[in-house]
Amino acid sequence: SLVANQIAAGEVVERPASVVKELLENSLDAQATQIEIEIEQGGIALIRIRDNGFGIRKEELLLALSRHATNKISSLEDLEQLNSLGFRGEALASIAAISRLTLNSRFHNQEMGYGIHLDGREQPTIPEPIAHPIGTTLEVRDLFYNTPARRRFLRTDKTEFGHVHEMIKRLALSCFNVSFKLTHNHKTLMALKIAQPEADKLQRVGMLCGPEFIDHILTVQADCGGMQLSGWITQPTYSRSQPDMQYFFVNGRIIRDKLLNHAVRQAYEDVLHLSRYPGYVLYLQLDPREVDVNVHPTKNEVRFVQSSAVYQFLVHSLQNSLANTCP
Ligand code: ADP
Ligand code: MG
Repeated sequence: SLVANQIAAGEVVERPASVVKELLENSLDAQATQIEIEIEQGGIALIRIRDNGFGIRKEELLLALSRHATNKISSLEDLEQLNSLGFRGEALASIAAISRLTLNSRFHNQEMGYGIHLDGREQPTIPEPIAHPIGTTLEVRDLFYNTPARRRFLRTDKTEFGHVHEMIKRLALSCFNVSFKLTHNHKTLMALKIAQPEADKLQRVGMLCGPEFIDHILTVQADCGGMQLSGWITQPTYSRSQPDMQYFFVNGRIIRDKLLNHAVRQAYEDVLHLSRYPGYVLYLQLDPREVDVNVHPTKNEVRFVQSSAVYQFLVHSLQNSLANTCP
């Protein structure tokens, strides 16, 4: 379809972290509240993600692995209102073409689970009955085994795992109502419980960003003109050891945006007369029609329809937080 082609722009599986992102987004779209991630050798040997989402019907297993199978969008209007994370309908098909993939799932009102297997060169197997709890397990082995040229671009296991870890961290910061467990080479590195009350959220932020981070943060909470900003920004007493303690989510998606960096810097200068980039974990909510998320296929960029209004709102909200707590 037109929409499908418009969206298909260029889905790229660059490295294990891109696979992890797509699989986790699918789990979240399936309303999972519990996600377990097993990684081996930086994700090159194995990525296994198990969720307790609503699962996939036996009849839809094969469809899930075919290109443009998405049922998450059917018109350009949907595209504008889009709330689900994935919508291009080609992630699993792309991943299956460059790995050995196993998809096991039990649909929520079916008694049996079913599994299929696919690798780059073969037709998928016929769904076989398996024992599986409600939800889905996706297993991706030997990434790029059949595309040696791309495989050569992969870095060390350690570096690839670093990217995987960072990806999971971002999703864990945006989904407090989901528990996450992460193992690398059978060692548990992350075990995050569902964090509902504010104190639990802060604890999760501490586990992800480090205790020094939460020792020096101010709460941000603002609501104006249909926009809400919440989260945390660090005080000048926090000396950032890592340059990337900066997380900005727009309607639940992680975004890299110059606008926010400018706003943070501006507020810091105005209130504290300091010229620096603090750490932050911030969440902006606004009408989905006010933001274009399809600027870039990886969806890490956005375009605001009224960017100066958004900018003003961000600066004022941050100024208030900084002024209220450190007079
Ligand atoms: P998209 O997410 O864009 O629809 P994908 O290739 O990522 O396309 O996934 C294809 C389809 O497989 C999804 O639309 C969904 O129906 C199904 N699917 C994939 N992963 C899961 C999961 N973890 N739980 C339930 N359904 C899933
Ligand atoms: Mg998807």
